Amino acid sequence: MSRNRKSSKTAHVLKLLTNSSDNVNPMINDGFKEEVIHSRIQPKAANEQNDDPKPVAVNVISELVYEIMPEVLSRFNCCTCDVCQAEISIKVMDELGTHYTPIIDENSYRQLNQIKDEKRKIVTRKLVSIAFKYRNMTKHI
Ligand SMILES: [Zn+2]
Repeated sequence: MSRNRKSSKTAHVLKLLTNSSDNVNPMINDGFKEEVIHSRIQPKAANEQNDDPKPVAVNVISELVYEIMPEVLSRFNCCTCDVCQAEISIKVMDELGTHYTPIIDENSYRQLNQIKDEKRKIVTRKLVSIAFKYRNMTKHI
């Protein structure tokens, strides 16, 4: 699938290069070059990840924010657009910091859930206090 996408993109670039030999726009060509480089790097990186899984760390605070936020925002009748949700989650993480826990094996998930239970109350409280300030702001959706 990724091979098809790559070859069609390459064909597109080749077509662009050959058709526009007398009025070459270097900006566009650079952009396309970058795109081609990206499409070459991406599948390789994905393969590497499959061959040699790197340890993953989950940000507990961020997980909780995205679990709890929708309910809190609707309770306070806040805007739920992506921008506002991103802003609010950044505020929470600015004030509470991040808490990464590594995911190595099945025990890690038990540990993750335990930390989530410990942090749930403080994250909820922070979300409520921020949502309270957002409740009268303009809605984007
Ligand atoms: Zn919004």
